Amino acid sequence: MLHSTVQVSDFSLNTMPSMLNHPFNRMKKVKNIILLIGDGMGFSYTTGLRYFNHDSRLGLMKPTLFDHYFVGTQSTYSLDAKSNITDSAAAGTALATGYKTYNGALGLNSEKQAVPSILEYAKFRGKSTGLVGTSQINHATLAAFATHHESRENYHEIADDYLDERINGEHKIDVMLGGGTSYFSRNDRNLVEEFRKSGFGYAANSIELLADRNEKLLGLFAPIELPKHLDRYATTVPSLSQMTKAAIKRLQQNQDGFFLLVEGSQIDWAGHDNDIVGAMSELKDFESAFHVAIQFALDRDDTIVIATADHSTGGMSIDRNDNYKWDPAVIRSIKSTPAVIAADLHKTKELSRITRHMHLSLHQEDWKTIQTTLEMEVGDTKQALINIINHYSSTGWTTKGHTGEDVPIYAYGLNKHKFSGRMENSDIAKLLFEMID
Ligand code: MG
Ligand code: ZN
Repeated sequence: MLHSTVQVSDFSLNTMPSMLNHPFNRMKKVKNIILLIGDGMGFSYTTGLRYFNHDSRLGLMKPTLFDHYFVGTQSTYSLDAKSNITDSAAAGTALATGYKTYNGALGLNSEKQAVPSILEYAKFRGKSTGLVGTSQINHATLAAFATHHESRENYHEIADDYLDERINGEHKIDVMLGGGTSYFSRNDRNLVEEFRKSGFGYAANSIELLADRNEKLLGLFAPIELPKHLDRYATTVPSLSQMTKAAIKRLQQNQDGFFLLVEGSQIDWAGHDNDIVGAMSELKDFESAFHVAIQFALDRDDTIVIATADHSTGGMSIDRNDNYKWDPAVIRSIKSTPAVIAADLHKTKELSRITRHMHLSLHQEDWKTIQTTLEMEVGDTKQALINIINHYSSTGWTTKGHTGEDVPIYAYGLNKHKFSGRMENSDIAKLLFEMID
């Protein structure tokens, strides 16, 4: 042997040269922060999107919008005695506060102490704040940035906190857009009315969202979650990019800047369902919202845009069963999510209506399978459709839950180099806290 072998373990943190004080690595103070979280958006999803956007099997694939801004990766594991795979509450808390914690916790560290979030700190420092998502706006990821609860299931209390909790006498959140009327307009309390009385505008559909002129705004466009992007009617339910645009328009009025969180909430939900059609639908929606954020930051020198995920979901894999041929054309040929197709088939009991939703030639066997499920629950039909689509597109899945691999970080703007390399999810919040000071 000519060379002595260097052990990987030799490179401990304190033997690595410190870059922290190098001139090009100094932290600059930022005015505006836009953080986008694709819930469940692991590497197989963003790579899948590149295949999906490419319309033939030949030739070089064009980079996705995300690809242009890739800077690093983060590890997502939670601090949980029973589980080393995170849920969205613990990962959301790490991204929001800088503290890894146990699964299910919102805004609490692993000792169950409330810890401030970057949204709260931004408000404390005089910035405006916003929460935008496609789930109900009191769902885990969004709630981790604005509340402190031992359980993510406290939906009513979380919604109450959005109105009741103040920082320096002001409402914590200035713009909230997403789903959730059933949590805000309740028998015991009508938060929509209360928000109105305390100076917020209210929008219940896309048209009202466009027409509204209030600087503070609550917009709820569905009883719980929004329909998936593919299933939305443009006049009733806005896209994630329209909501992001509406939020930025208002938040940027503040001379002291803003913090905005945008969540592609249902990439994860599609992953839990092993539904590749839903996953690509929600990824496209999220990609357009990222585009809006980048457009805002493009000609400014005071803004940072970060897009990342809280974990990956479903063990989605690009190809299965040694096929060597993933076929996104199959996914592109389907115009509604399996849940919506299944509901339509159960309502009408007309099997032929499938052809209105998907332009895919099915085998006799597939028709029979779907027919049989029409005598069962809607969920059975949805599952049958998902299985068929996974088969024809050759999409693989390993679990209905979350997975533990590292997830990508995309960044643009001031201090973007701070997010390069491999870091912990909690480091993202720590860096953002530093940038506000
Ligand atoms: Mg979420
Ligand atoms: Zn999940």
